[in-house]
Amino acid sequence: MKKIDNTNEFEAKKQLDIIKELKERYDRDYKERGIKKTYHIETFGCQMNSRDSEKISGILKQIGYVETDTEDADFVLYNTCTVRENANNRVYGRLGYVGRLKKNRPDMLVALCGCMMQETTAVEKIKNSYPFVDIIFGTHNIFKLAELIKTRLDNDISGGKHSDRMVIDLWKDTDIIVESLPNDRKYPFKAGVNIIFGCNNFCSYCIVPYVRGRERSRNLEDIIDEIKVLANDGVKEIMLLGQNVNSYGKNLKPQISFAKLLQEVEKVEGIERIRFMTSHPKDLSQELIDVMGASKKICKHLHLPLQSGSTRLLNIMNRKYSKEDYLDLVSRIKKVVPDISLTTDIIVGFPGETEEDFMETIDVVEKVGFDSAFTFLYSKRTGTPAANMDNQVEESVAKERFDRLLNAIQVSSADAAGRDEHTIQDVLVEEVNSQNEELLTGRLSNNMLVHFQGDKSLIGNIIPVYLKESKGFYYIGNPVG
Ligand code: SAM
Ligand code: SF4
Repeated sequence: MKKIDNTNEFEAKKQLDIIKELKERYDRDYKERGIKKTYHIETFGCQMNSRDSEKISGILKQIGYVETDTEDADFVLYNTCTVRENANNRVYGRLGYVGRLKKNRPDMLVALCGCMMQETTAVEKIKNSYPFVDIIFGTHNIFKLAELIKTRLDNDISGGKHSDRMVIDLWKDTDIIVESLPNDRKYPFKAGVNIIFGCNNFCSYCIVPYVRGRERSRNLEDIIDEIKVLANDGVKEIMLLGQNVNSYGKNLKPQISFAKLLQEVEKVEGIERIRFMTSHPKDLSQELIDVMGASKKICKHLHLPLQSGSTRLLNIMNRKYSKEDYLDLVSRIKKVVPDISLTTDIIVGFPGETEEDFMETIDVVEKVGFDSAFTFLYSKRTGTPAANMDNQVEESVAKERFDRLLNAIQVSSADAAGRDEHTIQDVLVEEVNSQNEELLTGRLSNNMLVHFQGDKSLIGNIIPVYLKESKGFYYIGNPVG
């Protein structure tokens, strides 16, 4: 397949040169002080943000920083989310705290990035109320982090008020994808891989398209090359990431479907499990269902956001499917992949939601039998069409419905749990159990957790485990053999 020119090799080279220059500076500092500079990243929001934080970590480690788990560090970054109002409020809370820390550590650098920074009002508030912030950048120019640090340090040399030295670099949108920059990974055996950036869907409640820009797919070769390198490094499980992975390849020439990409990823030797998220129901093709059904590597889990069970509301939400479309899709998936685990996102209290609309949502929850769900109270996001709708639902009504939805989800999860009890299943062993150090924790293909006794050396391996007892959200198991 011909590679389209949406990568930017010139930009990558420029940034790598700056990283090298900063590294020399930091190495000199290390020789003088005898201690390495530390950084701490606090990540808010979704998997996309977590992946961005890994890229930020990669750049910082290359410069010479070492990671620390507290905000008492030389460089503190907040990778923000703005999907709901409370995400913004949490960031302001952290800024108050770090501002106090910085009083005793004037050389400390504080940076803000991520979705909230793409909102003009949030940035204005930060400039006015938190002038100690050093660097602000957005979702489109993470690759420029080293350059922004260098500019900020150079501003110190030129002097002036602290707030005048603040470096702000925000892009409205972009069509470039910068490949080949340093990268970091939380786990040695599993990794997230971006396949598409941005979103074109403009669901009427959602701010993501305004802060993450239009859809841009990565070239197939770049994705496969990255996965081959990961497999060589010992990675066994890949999570393909995008706001709507089913749109993958629509802007590539020639076009390629997400199902075809999955088939290419399957061919990579060493990769044993493939996950992906998120799938927009309107774009989930029969081709994809068939590829999932035929695959030994694609995990038996699908995150399929419903948002609402009311066709009337789905229309106003601009979701482009009806309640019947969703149920039909689920039954086609279950026909081809009978042991699939389905999870979802649901919003309660969208403007104009009536009791009848809400009961349609409950009806879908009961009919589908979700394994679990992320449930959200509708949050008004300035700039989205839903924010201007004059029939906002009263908070007390939304909260009461939210509790009823949680109950319905609990019943559905309890029914789904235990499906695999008394069977032997493959488990990717992930870590020592955080509550009980004698246990290891791993995941089934359908994403369910399993706790069992075993040696730490098993971490990173896929092993057969007998699922002795279901405990609702997890199993207690015994390794076999
Ligand atoms: N792209 C994904 C999709 O379409 O499913 C999800 C992206 S969004 C970060 C994750 C979830 O946040 C959405 O599925 C939706 O349920 C929820 N969400 C988005 N905007 C919201 C809002 N204004 N209020 C409450 N929940 C919201
Ligand atoms: Fe938001 Fe809809 Fe795009 Fe998901 S598909 S990110 S909910 S606009």
